[in-house]
Amino acid sequence: MSAYQAFEVSDARRFRLVTRPAREPEPGHVRVRVEACGVCHSDVLAVEGVRADPHAPIVPGHEIVGVVDAVGDGVRGWRAGERVGIGYLGGHCGQCEQCRRGDFVNCTDQPQTGTTIDGGYAEMVHVRSSGLVRIPDGLGAVEAAPLLCAGLTMFTALRQAQARPGALAA
Ligand SMILES: [Zn+2]
Ligand SMILES: [Zn+2]
Repeated sequence: MSAYQAFEVSDARRFRLVTRPAREPEPGHVRVRVEACGVCHSDVLAVEGVRADPHAPIVPGHEIVGVVDAVGDGVRGWRAGERVGIGYLGGHCGQCEQCRRGDFVNCTDQPQTGTTIDGGYAEMVHVRSSGLVRIPDGLGAVEAAPLLCAGLTMFTALRQAQARPGALAA
């Protein structure tokens, strides 16, 4: 695929269907062919223009499931053809003070998928490989996509509460 389609938004709610050239992934990045992308309430930040530069178009969407299509230089552990998921945190840098403590969530050089970098309302995304998670073959893309944000939020709460199977949760 030499070009792909994407829905980008600029200002408030100005969606446009655009065609973009599929570029080779930068070092440390992969290109992913999108199978499905969930719609999250946080997409409202992009859609309503609550961003540093609302005039600059952005492709929303941060609950992405797809297949690695091309791998940039220096990427280890990922190959073309593997199924992956991408959430809101678009890949930690591995070099800042927070990363050196293993606190990747608070990395100071981490793109935000669908807000500071283009997200999954598209046929293709270009993302840092450090932001990828594996998606099992037996899990459908439509079912898996919401797990990348909404599902993660719920799971984290259950894990923090140390809730076991059969525990009462409210
Ligand atoms: Zn979300
Ligand atoms: Zn970092």
